[in-house]
Amino acid sequence: MENNELLFNLQKYDIVIKNAVAELNSFLSRKDEINADVKNLEAEAANCEQKIGANSADTSKLEKEIEFAETQIKKSTDRFLLIKTEKELSKYTTELEKLNSDKGALEEKMLALMERQEKLGAKLKKLKAEHERVKAESVEKNAEIDEKIAASRAELDKLTSHRREFVSGIPAAAVEEYDKLMASKNGLAVAMVSKKICSGCHLSISDNTLCQARFKGGLIHCPSCQRIIFIEP
Ligand SMILES: [Zn+2]
Repeated sequence: MENNELLFNLQKYDIVIKNAVAELNSFLSRKDEINADVKNLEAEAANCEQKIGANSADTSKLEKEIEFAETQIKKSTDRFLLIKTEKELSKYTTELEKLNSDKGALEEKMLALMERQEKLGAKLKKLKAEHERVKAESVEKNAEIDEKIAASRAELDKLTSHRREFVSGIPAAAVEEYDKLMASKNGLAVAMVSKKICSGCHLSISDNTLCQARFKGGLIHCPSCQRIIFIEP
């Protein structure tokens, strides 16, 4: 077999290997996605729990404020019997109104907090259920994808070892040239020529060059794209 034909076959190996690597990578990123879904839900639930904790602390603080307001109101009410003048009564009424209105505002705040707490609690419950569901699903999905990853890795190992064996039968200089072209020519180093057209650049190749490729031996390149030519048998 001529070197260009050997390289053409090597290229076939490399295309298969490239596809196998792409497949393996897609399995690996699928696995990442599966586990990210579980982690995201865990983080969301933790965040919700934190909010519930903060809300609960706010509630306790507010409870104390309301208690204090109630004490103030009680104290104020107790002074009612001591009122002697009209002026004192007016002052007393204003003060009591203010205290009651302050307490009302606090109670409203409390109501809002309790409502929020209830919503957060419902959200947390939903998140936890969702987390449990996704986590259970992920066990099965992971087992499935792990199987695919293992098979894909085994296949890739087999291909790589075959390639190594195949490459050892090709002159090193030819392989070196092939590797350079592979890197610079978008993964296509050897172009099949069919009906005088180079499959790498789709331009026609002169009879003279084709003649050289047929009979001269050595690696002949497409004058347009510089890829190694392999004439369709
Ligand atoms: Zn070409």
